[in-house]
Amino acid sequence: MRDEESKVLASIEKRLYIGGEWIEAKGNATFDVEDPATGATIAKVADATPSDALSALDAAHSAFGEWSQTAPRYRAEIIRRAYELIMQKQEELALLMTLEMGKPLPEARGEVAYAADFFRWFSEEAVRIDGRYYVAPDGNSRVLTLKQPVGVAYMITPWNFPLAMGTRKIGPALAAGCTVILKPAEQTPLCSLALMSIMVEAGLPSGVLNVIPTSDPAAVTDVLLEDPRLRKLSFTGSTDVGRMLAGRSANKLLRVSMELGGNAPFIVFDDANIDLAVDQAMIAKMRNMGEACTSANRFLVAASVADEFAQKLASRMGALKLGRGTEADSNVGPLIDLDAIAKVQRLVGDAIALGAKVLTGGEAVAGDGYFYKPTVLVDVPSNAAISTNEIFGPVAPIVTFANEEEAVRLANSTEYGLVAYIFTSNVSRALRVSESLQTGMVGLNQGMVSNAGAPFGGVKSSGFGREGGFEGIEEYLDLKYVAINHR
Ligand code: NAD
Repeated sequence: MRDEESKVLASIEKRLYIGGEWIEAKGNATFDVEDPATGATIAKVADATPSDALSALDAAHSAFGEWSQTAPRYRAEIIRRAYELIMQKQEELALLMTLEMGKPLPEARGEVAYAADFFRWFSEEAVRIDGRYYVAPDGNSRVLTLKQPVGVAYMITPWNFPLAMGTRKIGPALAAGCTVILKPAEQTPLCSLALMSIMVEAGLPSGVLNVIPTSDPAAVTDVLLEDPRLRKLSFTGSTDVGRMLAGRSANKLLRVSMELGGNAPFIVFDDANIDLAVDQAMIAKMRNMGEACTSANRFLVAASVADEFAQKLASRMGALKLGRGTEADSNVGPLIDLDAIAKVQRLVGDAIALGAKVLTGGEAVAGDGYFYKPTVLVDVPSNAAISTNEIFGPVAPIVTFANEEEAVRLANSTEYGLVAYIFTSNVSRALRVSESLQTGMVGLNQGMVSNAGAPFGGVKSSGFGREGGFEGIEEYLDLKYVAINHR
């Protein structure tokens, strides 16, 4: 390990942050964090127990009264300072992210900026929480509506975007006046701990944000969901876990946001600019090694241009260099763990057994770390498991279609509904197909939809609720109506 890597790892607090203090977990237990590029342990982090989770809830609940009453401008300025601190520390945060998650450094830098942008956006939104006053239909009374923070919010985040998935929840929650318990994914707790230090430096009062990494998310979550002081759950992760947590929350009538899995279709029509489609396919497929909920999962290409698109994509994918994300020339990092490799192997193996052909890649890389070669598959039959499962790896299966109607039918034939990408130069078709797709987001001639100023989220089994945009803060606000006698 290089000096700068050891230095950045040594600089991170590895304890829990509860009620304004860094503390060991009850019983002093820790768990290991691995570098997926080597399989080596890079840190030992305090392992929160259910009892620690309740301490975090005590702290967040006590801090709520005061924090929820602070001036919006006061909250805005703390969040804005945190934005500036994240950007000042972009290089260290990016290195930390690459070490615990694997993505190449340039992408990690991009995620740090994207993560910070949620703080910039919500620092600006904190001062725009509004209500209405109007005459009721009978003319005798008046209606006043106002918005108030929901209370203590519990946030569960995944490993694939270790910083941005946190800031995209914490930014609006703090702006609204909520207090927070953050539980990062066990594979990547270090970015959340680094973020906590930044929040302290930005002047966040004690108890407003608490961070509890744990190797036992189910046990920690159980006690929190049982406690009536918790008022909001915001979850980003797999559909299976999200579905289970939504069920549990329903019983408690908790406010819930669910950002779940995806199975994005990437549709290339015969009138598309093919070079642009290939450029954007590289982003939609290879950003984060394909480990993104928004990753293009199925390439649906008009039969007349499918060969050209497949050849160009395979040539670009085949030229990528795999390697440790910290190496200057590597543009594809490792997958997160052995299970991820096994899943990709199983899906590719099944597609090949059913008749798919490999244009490039098609196998894992032997040796240390969890590397899988960028892969393009053609002639993928519609009954292959790869068409219905979230791949979460660098594999592009290409399926052809004959006309627009078939493209839309194939695109919608999935339980998921997060994002779809459309490539066409026909404006009417672009708008018509955008309306027909059963997704929360559409990328039109562009392979990326992430933007702090836009409402990110899905429909169907991809969940509900929106993060970012004007809508993001509403997830942390309750609406109150005051009926006024005007006579
Ligand atoms: P995961 O569901 O296994 O884990 C996500 C989080 O849930 C982690 O923090 C984990 O510790 C926690 N968790 C796991 N089991 C739990 C339980 N029983 N109770 C409480 N918490 C539990 O998912 P993952 O593999 O870490 O993340 C990848 C998934 O996240 C993919 O499906 C991806 O599409 C999805 N994702 C969605 C979005 C979005 O915005 N829609 C963004 C990023 C990732």
